[in-house]
Amino acid sequence: MDNKFPGKDISSEDLKSKFPLAAKKNINHKSKFKINNTTFGGPLIPIMAGPNMVESEKLIIKIAKFIKKEGAQFLRGGAFKPLSFPYRSKNYNETRELGLKWLAKAKEETGIGIVTEVMEEKYIEPIAKVADILQIGSRNMQNYPFITKVAKTGKPILLKRHYGASLRDFLGAAEYILYEGNKKLILCERGVSIPHTHRSTSRFSLDLQIIPACKEISHLPIISDPSHATFWRPWVSSMTLASISAGSDGIMLEVHPDPKNAAVDPLQPIDFKDFEKLIKLSRKTAKAINRKID
Ligand code: PEP
Ligand code: MN
Repeated sequence: MDNKFPGKDISSEDLKSKFPLAAKKNINHKSKFKINNTTFGGPLIPIMAGPNMVESEKLIIKIAKFIKKEGAQFLRGGAFKPLSFPYRSKNYNETRELGLKWLAKAKEETGIGIVTEVMEEKYIEPIAKVADILQIGSRNMQNYPFITKVAKTGKPILLKRHYGASLRDFLGAAEYILYEGNKKLILCERGVSIPHTHRSTSRFSLDLQIIPACKEISHLPIISDPSHATFWRPWVSSMTLASISAGSDGIMLEVHPDPKNAAVDPLQPIDFKDFEKLIKLSRKTAKAINRKID
Protein backbone atom coordinates (compact mmCIF):
# COMPACT_ATOMS: atom_id res chain seq x y z
CA MET A 1 0.00 0.00 0.00
CA ASP A 2 1.43 3.38 -0.89
CA ASN A 3 1.34 6.06 1.75
CA LYS A 4 0.75 8.85 -0.66
CA PHE A 5 -2.25 10.36 1.05
CA PRO A 6 -2.74 12.02 4.41
CA GLY A 7 -3.77 9.86 7.29
CA LYS A 8 -1.52 7.19 5.76
CA ASP A 9 -4.35 4.68 5.88
CA ILE A 10 -5.80 5.74 2.53
CA SER A 11 -4.00 4.55 -0.58
CA SER A 12 -4.58 5.67 -4.14
CA GLU A 13 -6.18 2.28 -4.80
CA ASP A 14 -8.60 2.90 -1.89
CA LEU A 15 -9.73 6.10 -3.53
CA LYS A 16 -10.96 4.06 -6.49
CA SER A 17 -12.29 1.00 -4.71
CA LYS A 18 -13.54 2.31 -1.36
CA PHE A 19 -14.31 5.97 -1.97
CA PRO A 20 -15.25 6.20 -5.64
CA LEU A 21 -17.97 8.74 -4.82
CA ALA A 22 -16.30 10.75 -2.04
CA ALA A 23 -12.92 10.99 -3.79
CA LYS A 24 -12.03 13.85 -6.14
CA LYS A 25 -12.08 12.96 -9.81
CA ASN A 26 -9.40 15.52 -10.56
CA ILE A 27 -7.39 18.07 -8.64
CA ASN A 28 -9.95 20.88 -9.13
CA HIS A 29 -13.03 18.77 -8.40
CA LYS A 30 -15.13 20.44 -5.72
CA SER A 31 -18.75 19.85 -4.85
CA LYS A 32 -20.83 22.98 -5.01
CA PHE A 33 -24.54 23.01 -4.20
CA LYS A 34 -27.28 25.22 -2.91
CA ILE A 35 -29.36 24.74 0.20
CA ASN A 36 -32.02 27.42 0.73
CA ASN A 37 -30.26 29.78 -1.67
CA THR A 38 -26.97 29.40 0.21
CA THR A 39 -24.11 27.93 -1.79
CA PHE A 40 -21.78 25.46 -0.12
CA GLY A 41 -18.40 24.68 -1.64
CA GLY A 42 -17.88 28.14 -3.14
CA PRO A 43 -16.17 31.26 -1.79
CA LEU A 44 -18.93 31.87 0.78
CA ILE A 45 -18.39 30.44 4.27
CA PRO A 46 -21.94 29.85 5.55
CA ILE A 47 -22.63 30.30 9.25
CA MET A 48 -24.84 27.95 11.26
CA ALA A 49 -25.54 29.21 14.76
CA GLY A 50 -27.89 28.66 17.66
CA PRO A 51 -28.28 27.03 21.03
CA ASN A 52 -27.27 23.50 21.85
CA MET A 53 -30.88 22.61 22.59
CA VAL A 54 -34.11 24.17 21.39
CA GLU A 55 -35.20 25.19 24.88
CA SER A 56 -38.31 27.28 24.28
CA GLU A 57 -40.21 29.00 21.49
CA LYS A 58 -39.33 32.43 22.77
CA LEU A 59 -35.62 31.67 23.01
CA ILE A 60 -35.30 30.03 19.61
CA ILE A 61 -37.09 32.88 17.83
CA LYS A 62 -35.01 35.47 19.62
CA ILE A 63 -31.80 33.68 18.60
CA ALA A 64 -33.01 33.14 15.02
CA LYS A 65 -33.74 36.84 14.58
CA PHE A 66 -30.42 37.89 16.05
CA ILE A 67 -28.14 35.54 14.13
CA LYS A 68 -29.96 36.23 10.87
CA LYS A 69 -29.44 39.95 11.34
CA GLU A 70 -25.73 39.26 11.89
CA GLY A 71 -25.45 37.27 8.66
CA ALA A 72 -25.99 33.62 9.62
CA GLN A 73 -27.78 31.48 7.03
CA PHE A 74 -28.82 28.59 9.28
CA LEU A 75 -30.22 28.17 12.76
CA ARG A 76 -28.84 25.15 14.59
CA GLY A 77 -30.35 23.52 17.67
CA GLY A 78 -31.38 20.09 18.82
CA ALA A 79 -34.94 19.16 19.66
CA PHE A 80 -33.88 15.52 19.75
CA LYS A 81 -30.54 15.34 21.54
CA PRO A 82 -27.92 12.73 22.33
CA LEU A 83 -27.65 13.72 25.99
CA SER A 84 -24.73 11.98 27.70
CA PHE A 85 -26.66 10.77 30.75
CA PRO A 86 -30.15 9.30 31.12
CA TYR A 87 -31.21 11.56 34.01
CA ARG A 88 -33.63 14.36 33.25
CA SER A 89 -34.89 17.37 35.13
CA LYS A 90 -37.26 20.18 34.31
CA ASN A 91 -34.52 22.17 32.57
CA TYR A 92 -32.39 19.31 31.33
CA ASN A 93 -34.73 17.55 28.99
CA GLU A 94 -35.18 17.23 25.27
CA THR A 95 -38.06 19.23 23.86
CA ARG A 96 -38.61 16.73 21.00
CA GLU A 97 -41.83 17.32 18.97
CA LEU A 98 -42.43 20.65 20.68
CA GLY A 99 -38.88 21.78 19.91
CA LEU A 100 -39.39 20.79 16.30
CA LYS A 101 -42.53 22.91 16.16
CA TRP A 102 -40.61 25.88 17.57
CA LEU A 103 -37.89 25.42 14.94
CA ALA A 104 -40.60 25.48 12.26
CA LYS A 105 -41.98 28.66 13.81
CA ALA A 106 -38.53 30.28 13.85
CA LYS A 107 -38.16 29.46 10.17
CA GLU A 108 -41.62 30.80 9.38
CA GLU A 109 -40.91 34.08 11.18
CA THR A 110 -37.40 34.71 9.89
CA GLY A 111 -36.91 32.62 6.75
CA ILE A 112 -33.67 31.23 8.17
CA GLY A 113 -32.61 27.68 7.23
CA ILE A 114 -32.81 24.97 9.87
CA VAL A 115 -30.20 22.37 10.74
CA THR A 116 -31.17 19.91 13.45
CA GLU A 117 -30.17 16.45 14.57
CA VAL A 118 -32.00 13.25 13.83
CA MET A 119 -31.25 10.28 16.05
CA GLU A 120 -34.04 7.77 15.64
CA GLU A 121 -35.46 6.22 12.53
CA LYS A 122 -39.05 6.93 13.46
CA TYR A 123 -38.39 10.69 13.61
CA ILE A 124 -36.57 10.99 10.28
CA GLU A 125 -39.77 11.89 8.45
CA PRO A 126 -41.18 14.55 10.80
CA ILE A 127 -37.76 16.18 11.19
CA ALA A 128 -37.20 16.13 7.41
CA LYS A 129 -40.41 18.14 7.02
CA VAL A 130 -39.01 21.01 9.10
CA ALA A 131 -35.24 20.85 8.61
CA ASP A 132 -33.35 22.09 5.57
CA ILE A 133 -30.33 20.07 6.67
CA LEU A 134 -30.53 16.83 8.63
CA GLN A 135 -27.69 16.55 11.11
CA ILE A 136 -26.21 13.13 11.80
CA GLY A 137 -24.47 13.51 15.14
CA SER A 138 -20.98 12.30 15.90
CA ARG A 139 -22.34 9.40 17.91
CA ASN A 140 -24.26 8.04 14.94
CA MET A 141 -21.58 8.56 12.30
CA GLN A 142 -20.96 4.84 11.97
CA ASN A 143 -24.54 3.66 12.38
CA TYR A 144 -24.64 2.61 8.74
CA PRO A 145 -28.23 1.31 8.49
CA PHE A 146 -29.40 4.54 10.14
CA ILE A 147 -27.38 6.93 8.00
CA THR A 148 -28.51 5.04 4.91
CA LYS A 149 -32.13 5.70 5.90
CA VAL A 150 -31.42 9.38 6.51
CA ALA A 151 -29.68 9.58 3.11
CA LYS A 152 -32.72 8.06 1.40
CA THR A 153 -34.81 11.13 2.30
CA GLY A 154 -32.82 13.03 -0.32
CA LYS A 155 -32.52 15.97 2.10
CA PRO A 156 -29.17 17.72 2.55
CA ILE A 157 -27.10 16.12 5.32
CA LEU A 158 -24.54 17.43 7.79
CA LEU A 159 -22.39 14.49 8.86
CA LYS A 160 -20.46 15.15 12.05
CA ARG A 161 -17.20 13.29 12.51
CA HIS A 162 -17.14 10.82 15.36
CA TYR A 163 -14.56 11.98 17.92
CA GLY A 164 -12.59 8.79 17.45
CA ALA A 165 -12.87 8.48 13.69
CA SER A 166 -9.98 8.63 11.23
CA LEU A 167 -10.39 10.34 7.89
CA ARG A 168 -10.82 6.86 6.42
CA ASP A 169 -13.75 6.11 8.77
CA PHE A 170 -15.24 9.56 8.18
CA LEU A 171 -15.13 9.32 4.40
CA GLY A 172 -16.39 5.73 4.62
CA ALA A 173 -19.53 7.00 6.34
CA ALA A 174 -19.81 9.80 3.75
CA GLU A 175 -19.57 7.18 1.01
CA TYR A 176 -22.67 5.42 2.45
CA ILE A 177 -24.64 8.65 2.03
CA LEU A 178 -23.37 9.36 -1.48
CA TYR A 179 -24.08 5.74 -2.41
CA GLU A 180 -27.79 6.49 -1.89
CA GLY A 181 -27.56 9.20 -4.52
CA ASN A 182 -27.65 11.96 -1.92
CA LYS A 183 -25.16 14.56 -3.11
CA LYS A 184 -25.87 17.48 -0.79
CA LEU A 185 -23.52 16.27 1.88
CA ILE A 186 -21.53 18.51 4.21
CA LEU A 187 -18.88 17.10 6.53
CA CYS A 188 -18.24 18.60 9.96
CA GLU A 189 -15.16 18.44 12.18
CA ARG A 190 -16.29 18.82 15.81
CA GLY A 191 -13.26 17.82 17.83
CA VAL A 192 -11.58 14.53 18.55
CA SER A 193 -11.03 12.77 21.83
CA ILE A 194 -7.37 12.52 22.74
CA PRO A 195 -6.03 10.08 25.38
CA HIS A 196 -6.77 11.18 28.92
CA THR A 197 -3.07 11.13 29.71
CA HIS A 198 -2.54 13.94 27.21
CA ARG A 199 -5.67 15.87 27.97
CA SER A 200 -4.55 19.03 29.66
CA THR A 201 -6.97 21.21 27.75
CA SER A 202 -10.51 20.26 26.92
CA ARG A 203 -12.93 17.36 26.52
CA PHE A 204 -12.22 17.30 22.77
CA SER A 205 -9.53 18.81 20.56
CA LEU A 206 -10.33 20.60 17.32
CA ASP A 207 -8.51 18.66 14.60
CA LEU A 208 -7.91 21.41 12.06
CA GLN A 209 -5.61 19.26 9.96
CA ILE A 210 -8.55 17.18 8.85
CA ILE A 211 -9.71 20.15 6.76
CA PRO A 212 -6.75 20.29 4.34
CA ALA A 213 -6.38 16.50 4.57
CA CYS A 214 -9.96 15.95 3.54
CA LYS A 215 -9.80 18.54 0.77
CA GLU A 216 -6.72 16.90 -0.67
CA ILE A 217 -8.68 13.76 -1.52
CA SER A 218 -12.38 14.61 -1.39
CA HIS A 219 -14.59 17.09 -3.25
CA LEU A 220 -17.01 17.41 -0.32
CA PRO A 221 -17.36 20.65 1.66
CA ILE A 222 -16.12 20.37 5.23
CA ILE A 223 -17.11 22.76 8.02
CA SER A 224 -15.88 23.24 11.58
CA ASP A 225 -17.72 23.32 14.91
CA PRO A 226 -15.37 24.98 17.41
CA SER A 227 -18.06 25.06 20.12
CA HIS A 228 -18.30 21.30 20.54
CA ALA A 229 -14.56 20.87 20.02
CA THR A 230 -13.36 23.31 22.66
CA PHE A 231 -16.32 22.88 25.03
CA TRP A 232 -15.14 26.21 26.43
CA ARG A 233 -16.40 29.60 25.22
CA PRO A 234 -13.19 31.62 25.73
CA TRP A 235 -11.52 29.53 22.98
CA VAL A 236 -14.34 29.57 20.46
CA SER A 237 -13.34 32.81 18.77
CA SER A 238 -9.70 31.94 18.07
CA MET A 239 -10.59 28.43 16.93
CA THR A 240 -13.23 29.85 14.56
CA LEU A 241 -10.68 32.15 12.94
CA ALA A 242 -8.19 29.27 12.78
CA SER A 243 -10.85 27.08 11.11
CA ILE A 244 -11.45 29.73 8.47
CA SER A 245 -7.71 29.99 7.86
CA ALA A 246 -7.50 26.20 7.56
CA GLY A 247 -10.03 26.31 4.71
CA SER A 248 -13.27 25.48 6.48
CA ASP A 249 -16.29 25.67 4.16
CA GLY A 250 -18.63 26.76 6.93
CA ILE A 251 -18.78 27.38 10.66
CA MET A 252 -21.15 25.97 13.25
CA LEU A 253 -21.37 27.94 16.48
CA GLU A 254 -23.30 27.65 19.68
CA VAL A 255 -24.89 30.97 20.55
CA HIS A 256 -27.15 31.71 23.52
CA PRO A 257 -28.34 35.05 24.94
CA ASP A 258 -27.63 33.82 28.48
CA PRO A 259 -24.88 31.18 28.09
CA LYS A 260 -24.43 30.44 31.79
CA ASN A 261 -28.04 29.39 32.01
CA ALA A 262 -28.10 27.30 28.83
CA ALA A 263 -29.90 24.03 29.53
CA VAL A 264 -27.14 21.88 28.00
CA ASP A 265 -23.36 22.42 28.02
CA PRO A 266 -23.46 25.97 29.43
CA LEU A 267 -19.66 26.31 29.14
CA GLN A 268 -19.62 26.32 25.34
CA PRO A 269 -22.05 28.87 23.86
CA ILE A 270 -20.97 32.44 23.21
CA ASP A 271 -23.34 35.32 23.88
CA PHE A 272 -24.82 37.77 21.36
CA LYS A 273 -22.14 40.40 21.88
CA ASP A 274 -19.31 37.92 21.31
CA PHE A 275 -21.08 36.48 18.28
CA GLU A 276 -21.34 39.90 16.72
CA LYS A 277 -17.63 40.56 17.36
CA LEU A 278 -16.62 37.14 16.07
CA ILE A 279 -18.57 37.53 12.82
CA LYS A 280 -16.81 40.85 12.19
CA LEU A 281 -13.38 39.26 12.73
CA SER A 282 -14.38 36.22 10.67
CA ARG A 283 -15.28 38.47 7.73
CA LYS A 284 -11.81 40.00 7.78
CA THR A 285 -10.14 36.58 8.08
CA ALA A 286 -12.22 35.18 5.21
CA LYS A 287 -11.40 38.18 3.04
CA ALA A 288 -7.68 37.67 3.60
CA ILE A 289 -7.90 34.23 1.97
CA ASN A 290 -10.27 35.33 -0.82
CA ARG A 291 -13.38 33.90 0.75
CA LYS A 292 -16.35 35.63 2.26
CA ILE A 293 -18.85 35.69 5.08
CA ASP A 294 -22.20 37.42 4.56
C1 PEP B 1 -24.76 19.02 18.48
O1 PEP B 1 -24.39 19.58 17.43
O2 PEP B 1 -25.62 19.47 19.22
C2 PEP B 1 -24.11 17.76 18.87
C3 PEP B 1 -24.61 16.99 19.81
O3 PEP B 1 -22.97 17.55 18.21
P1 PEP B 1 -21.95 16.32 18.23
O4 PEP B 1 -22.67 15.17 17.60
O5 PEP B 1 -20.81 16.82 17.42
O6 PEP B 1 -21.59 16.07 19.67
MN1 MN C 1 -24.27 19.42 21.63
